[in-house]
Amino acid sequence: MKINIGCHLSVSGGYTNMGKTALSIGANTFQFFTRNPRGGGIKLPSDEDISGLIKIMEENNFAPIIAHAPYTFNPCAADEGIRDYTKRTMAEDLRLLDKIPNVLYNFHPGSHVSQGVDVGIAKTVDTLNDILKNSERTMVLIETMAGKGSEIGKTFEEIKAIIDGVENSDRVGVCLDTCHIHDGGYKIAENVDSVIEEFDRIIGIDRLKAIHLNDSKNPLGAKKDRHETIGNGHLSLDSIIKIISHPVISKLPICLETPNELDGYAKEIALLKDAVSNI
Ligand code: FE
Ligand code: FE
Ligand code: ZN
Repeated sequence: MKINIGCHLSVSGGYTNMGKTALSIGANTFQFFTRNPRGGGIKLPSDEDISGLIKIMEENNFAPIIAHAPYTFNPCAADEGIRDYTKRTMAEDLRLLDKIPNVLYNFHPGSHVSQGVDVGIAKTVDTLNDILKNSERTMVLIETMAGKGSEIGKTFEEIKAIIDGVENSDRVGVCLDTCHIHDGGYKIAENVDSVIEEFDRIIGIDRLKAIHLNDSKNPLGAKKDRHETIGNGHLSLDSIIKIISHPVISKLPICLETPNELDGYAKEIALLKDAVSNI
């Protein structure tokens, strides 16, 4: 079996350079932050830089790549000024990404703080409706969250409620983070089949567009969100191999966000590709 696997890369050397780096570590997908993960301005890539990446992706059979919104954005913030800023910035990201054919825009649905889950969901829906109207085509992915603090998106039901509220939901999918859902109490390490069945029953499997592959430093249900390198946490290497060789997951872009430098990512990619090669 062949999988589509890559890791998080830095955008600082440009878009073409990320494609080259991915190739050099045996990856055929990758993820990057569109701008400083803590927010702030964007350095727009040149058309030439973008077309260089597109060429590498086409010539090397890349799966879709993932652009990650800054994680300090709060699409359901109580402060309307913060939420306006989040809307403007996410829409600006999307219009840039609209130039790349095979990219998915992943974001954290936000923290309701003291507003309650229902208000949080309603505000995130409003943010999504706004950014989809102000961009053309790029698919947006809601990431499954661990449930630390007041994060929304910690259950499949909450994610389904967000999707149901969006007008143009054809452009909305889900990115499943293995560390997050394990920390959220889903037994993906023990039984990936039943978790995928539950996802299908509640959200619909067609919505699943990407995987964040991480081990977890914490036990099931800890609600912590601390990623661990592959095979060194509470998910275990055996379970991770079962997860990535699941017939649904093996066809998706799988992206590592483990605590690694590039050489560590290269080793994990080689290990996992090798592990599924005779399945
Ligand atoms: Fe994330
Ligand atoms: Fe993630
Ligand atoms: Zn995380």
